[in-house]
Amino acid sequence: MNLEARSVLSERVLLLDVGYRPLSIISVRRAILLMVCQKADAVHESDRTVRSERFDLFAPSVAKLRYSVAAPFKSRASLHRKSVFARDDYECQYCGRRAECIDHVLPRSKGGEHEWENVVACCRACNLAKGDTLLGESTFHLRSAPIAPEPLEVAVALKRNFPEEWLAYLPARFAISA
Ligand SMILES: [Zn+2]
Repeated sequence: MNLEARSVLSERVLLLDVGYRPLSIISVRRAILLMVCQKADAVHESDRTVRSERFDLFAPSVAKLRYSVAAPFKSRASLHRKSVFARDDYECQYCGRRAECIDHVLPRSKGGEHEWENVVACCRACNLAKGDTLLGESTFHLRSAPIAPEPLEVAVALKRNFPEEWLAYLPARFAISA
């Protein structure tokens, strides 16, 4: 396999369930493995080709599973600063202004964990004012309960340059940000 083929293999494929709902983002390598094992079919192909000794095919851009999955690839996105901003739409979760910081709802000094359910995007003013105060003892209120998003939600919210053909399969709210 040549170098170009290797880079194609690491490109991303939107994986759909049997009902054409988005499940996750996988690599071309994994999508081709699913296709070779007859577990998935390509729905859209890119113009990049993957060559091997045994086959020569266009790399899929969207693939669909042939079988239904009960709890499909439900997993938590890994926690990164920019993923928190993406989940919270870059808005301070206390006052709605543009967020610049990450706040631990239950302060770390009081045993708060660094996990999705305890971190929110926050503006500098609220971050300073809240400090190490417990939420119940302060005047701050969360606009919504922080939850752990799925990797697909974060990837889309980060507005990474996903191929146009993915849009047809993503929830409508993503169409605005794409
Ligand atoms: Zn604020």
